[in-house]
Amino acid sequence: MSQTKDDCLFCKIAAGEIPSAKVYEDEDVYAFLDISQVTKGHTLVIPKTHAKNIYETPDDVAEKLFKQVPKLAQAIKDTYQPEGLNILNNNEEPAGQSVFHLHLHLIPRYGKGDGFGAVWKTHEDKYNQDDLQTIATEINQQIK
Ligand code: AMP
Ligand code: ZN
Repeated sequence: MSQTKDDCLFCKIAAGEIPSAKVYEDEDVYAFLDISQVTKGHTLVIPKTHAKNIYETPDDVAEKLFKQVPKLAQAIKDTYQPEGLNILNNNEEPAGQSVFHLHLHLIPRYGKGDGFGAVWKTHEDKYNQDDLQTIATEINQQIK
């Protein structure tokens, strides 16, 4: 399922046209509880300006969005004393994006079996320092 700007669930939530459990709002940013509550306090932070995902996000929108994240994370920590907190952003369907308006997941962590997990395999043995430098250079050359 994908949404266009004119038919965007999160634009409608930020505009108050669809109800949400609002955590925070300012001129540029809206934060609300993820309906799935993967863990207690699971919060979504979105720019009020529509951007499909990270690839379509202008620098100034990204700056204003992320600026609010530390205090929101701190508020979740102070409220529920989680043992940790993950910040997650899914881009495109294969990466798990299901709502096509940029959003950051703030997921407080309460220990093993709390509802969230990510597979994090290491392939350190497959890349030497030269391999890493080659990859870094390839990416660097694409930075616009
Ligand atoms: P993602 O899969 O990264 O695109 O995340 C989209 C998230 O939006 C999911 O975790 C959903 O649970 C959440 N979501 C979908 N609809 C709503 C809604 N109406 N209110 C709050 N969260 C929602
Ligand atoms: Zn939108």
